[in-house]
Amino acid sequence: MDGISANTDAGSLTLSELKDYIKGLEEPSYRAAQIFSWIHERRVTSFDEMTDISKKLREKLKEDCFIPFLETEERLISKIDGTRKYLFKTRDGEYIETVLMRYEYGVTICVSTQVGCAMGCVFCASGIDGRKRNLSAYEILSQIYTVSCDIDERIGHVVVMGMGEPLDNYDNVVRFIRLLTDERGYNLSARNITVSTCGIVPGIKKLSEEGIPLTLALSLHASDQATREKIMPVAKRYGLDEVLKECDEYFKKTGRRVTYEYALIDSVNDTDEHARALGALFKGKDAHINIIPVNPGGRDENFKSSRKAALEFKKKLEKYKINATIRRETGRDINGACGQLRSRHNKEQQQLS
Ligand code: SAH
Repeated sequence: MDGISANTDAGSLTLSELKDYIKGLEEPSYRAAQIFSWIHERRVTSFDEMTDISKKLREKLKEDCFIPFLETEERLISKIDGTRKYLFKTRDGEYIETVLMRYEYGVTICVSTQVGCAMGCVFCASGIDGRKRNLSAYEILSQIYTVSCDIDERIGHVVVMGMGEPLDNYDNVVRFIRLLTDERGYNLSARNITVSTCGIVPGIKKLSEEGIPLTLALSLHASDQATREKIMPVAKRYGLDEVLKECDEYFKKTGRRVTYEYALIDSVNDTDEHARALGALFKGKDAHINIIPVNPGGRDENFKSSRKAALEFKKKLEKYKINATIRRETGRDINGACGQLRSRHNKEQQQLS
C-alpha cells in the first residue's frame, strides 16, 4: 500500500487541483492529466502501476500521496434476485457496505457516504452505532470502481442511498459527483445519479445551486410533523413545512422533479388519515411518492409492513391523485435492502456467503 503516513488523498483531487499539486512539485503540468487518467480511467490503486510516469516522480508521489482504495472483505449474492452486497474495509480499518442491484434498465449501485450515520432514524440500521467518520470522495468512488471491475460491467445508475446522510458530508459528496461525472474519468451522466436526504434544508439549498442535473430524493416518511419527529430526529431541526418548501425551491431552480420516499410502517404512517394528509400536502403538485414497505433491522423492532399494505396505501394515495410506486424489494436475504446497511462486520452475514 502506498505510504500510510502520506498526507495527500490523490484520488479525491480534481484535475485542476492535481495540476496545482504537480506545479508545486515543479513537474510539467501534463503529468497531472496522466495521473488523473491512471486513477479514474484505468483505475489503478498504486503509483507503481503508473508506468509512463518517471520513476523519480512516482517515488515523490509515493512519499506524499495515497489512494484510499477499499479492500473487499466480503461479497454476498442474493439467491432470490442476484443483488450483491459488498463489505468493504477502508485503509484505516473501518467497514462500509455497498449494494449492486439489477433492473430491466441496467445495473444500479447504492453507495455509502459515511461510516455509520448520525441521523438516528428509528427504522434504519445504519445509524444504530452512530457516525464514525465521513468517507472521502475517492472512498465513495472506489465503491463504484471496485464493483464495476468485479462484475466486469459498466454501472449505469448510482443511488447515493447507502449508509450515511450525504448532505451531512456535503463537500466530499459533491466532489465525488464531480469526479464521477468527469468526462476524463468514469463519465457518468449526472442524470443517472440520485441523492437521497433525510431533509437537511441548508444542504438541499446549496445543492440546488451547484448546477448538477442530478435527481434529489427526500426521505419523507410521514405526512405530519409529529409523526415525522417521532421516527426521524432530524425533523426537530428542520420541520416538515420548511423541508417541503425547500424541495419546491429545488424543483423551481433546477427543473428537476424531487422524488419523495415513504417507508411504510404498520399503524405508524399508513392509515387513511395519513393518506389524506399527504393528499393535502401535495395537492396540485404532481408529486411522485416511492413507497418502501419498511425492512427489519432498525432500532425499533416492532416496525413492520408488507407488500399488501403498500398496495393498499398506493390505492389510497391514488384517490388523492398522488402518483405512487412501490419500490421493488431486492437483496433482503442478504440484509442488503433499504435501511439494512451497517458499518459493523457481522459474523452472521459472513455465514450466508
Ligand atoms: N440518509 C439518506 C440516505 C440513506 S437511506 C436518507 O435518509 O435519505 C435510503 C432510504 O432508505 C431512505 O429513504 C431511508 O429513509 C430508507 N430506509 C431506511 N431504513 C429503512 C427501512 N428499515 N425500511 C425501508 N426503508 C428504509
